[in-house]
Amino acid sequence: MNRILILGAGFAGLWAAMAAARKLDESGRAQTTEILVVDARPFHSIRVRNYELDPAATQVPLADVLEPIGVKWLTGTIEQIDTAQHTVTVKTANDTKVLNYARLVVALGSTLVHPSIPGLVEHAFDVDTFENTNTLLAHLRSLSTQPASAGRYTAVVIGAGLTGSEVAAELPAKLSKLAKNTAEVRVILIDHLPRIADQMGEAQPVIETAMRSMGVEMRPGVQVSRVTSTGVELANGETIAASTVIWCGGFHANPLVKELPTQHDTLGRIQVDEYLRVPDIPDVFAAGDCANLAIDGKNDIIMSCQYSLPMGRFCGHNVAANLLGEALLPLRIDDYVTCVDLGSWGAVYTQGRERKLVMQGEQVKRTKQFITHELIYPPINRNRDDILQAAAPTLATESLENKVL
Ligand SMILES: Cc1cc2nc3c(=O)[nH]c(=O)nc-3n(C[C@H](O)[C@H](O)[C@H](O)COP(=O)(O)OP(=O)(O)OC[C@H]3O[C@@H](n4cnc5c(N)ncnc54)[C@H](O)[C@@H]3O)c2cc1C
Repeated sequence: MNRILILGAGFAGLWAAMAAARKLDESGRAQTTEILVVDARPFHSIRVRNYELDPAATQVPLADVLEPIGVKWLTGTIEQIDTAQHTVTVKTANDTKVLNYARLVVALGSTLVHPSIPGLVEHAFDVDTFENTNTLLAHLRSLSTQPASAGRYTAVVIGAGLTGSEVAAELPAKLSKLAKNTAEVRVILIDHLPRIADQMGEAQPVIETAMRSMGVEMRPGVQVSRVTSTGVELANGETIAASTVIWCGGFHANPLVKELPTQHDTLGRIQVDEYLRVPDIPDVFAAGDCANLAIDGKNDIIMSCQYSLPMGRFCGHNVAANLLGEALLPLRIDDYVTCVDLGSWGAVYTQGRERKLVMQGEQVKRTKQFITHELIYPPINRNRDDILQAAAPTLATESLENKVL
């Protein structure tokens, strides 16, 4: 029996598995091919919700999505990809397996970049993964049991891009619930760029307004030189006492994909063609944050679930079509939107790469919640037809602006 092996069950990997199952089902040849998904965890993580610091509802058991459509999955750590031998080595809880494949989908996502700031790895929290978000949450809950100290309820967020802004916007309310005396609560958002949310186009002044109204202190143009167990030291010699330091620097591709013998971009991503094929490696496709192409004919992919999810759908369709000897579908996405959650203030929504302001304020929060709590979830009703139908290789074309509920 042929095997389509899918590495990663994030947005790209899970939706690729669903789309491959859909294509095989449509062709009537599902019995001839096994689809196997490998991930370190037995659940799909709605990673974009990690900033909410309430990860309870962000796990989707793989069993609920894959079992009804006959896709298998294996929980384990992928250690090596050998494209010459068509094998992948996976360490599971019990043993090490060497899996072969007829076609491979690499969807291993991205991880936080950690520049060499002393103490960053040891002392800073982050919201990159479900596990790290839980660690941060446990730390925040423990603050009230710690001896009173300067900075006990101070949180410093380093990196004021999309993720850092969303995290900082959650913290005033979160910390105020935990502190007996809310006057002790301080949230400081730091970035080395000249402005907070510098890359956010017309949303930039909106984000500043929201931060100001929630009492978040903004420190643009500032370099952090050291992170310690009691706070941060800045390049100008200033120290800020803070029990909580959260690192929200940028992302790069999963380092495992660097080993693949093909072209990579400056973020370590695999360069794929419009069919999501890796040009130099036979039988290998890639999608999501670990892959890049000129998605609208000229611009690079922006690492996002907005792109990863349709990349997964097209990739899954194409990998199955390729195995069946059928024509592949090119992926092109001209649309790009950004919706930033700004905590109790609301949210801001922009259109296009230049981030033209479309909507801001409280009502946009419902659009954000529609996106992150509904739109990007796979069907979780265990209904086979619903799951296969959701995986059709199409783009969601309806305007999200009209989705204010
Ligand atoms: C806090 C936060 C907020 C975000 N907000 C937004 C947003 O508002 N809008 C937006 O579009 N995007 C947002 N993103 C980005 C978005 O989450 C990513 O672009 C998206 O998750 C990429 O999907 P992916 O499938 O490529 O990778 P991932 O979702 O990271 O999935 C990769 C999978 O591979 C598995 N894996 C990795 N290495 C191994 C290994 N060695 N062995 C086994 N399994 C492995 C992981 O367990 C994971 O399940 C946000 C990200 C974060 C962290």
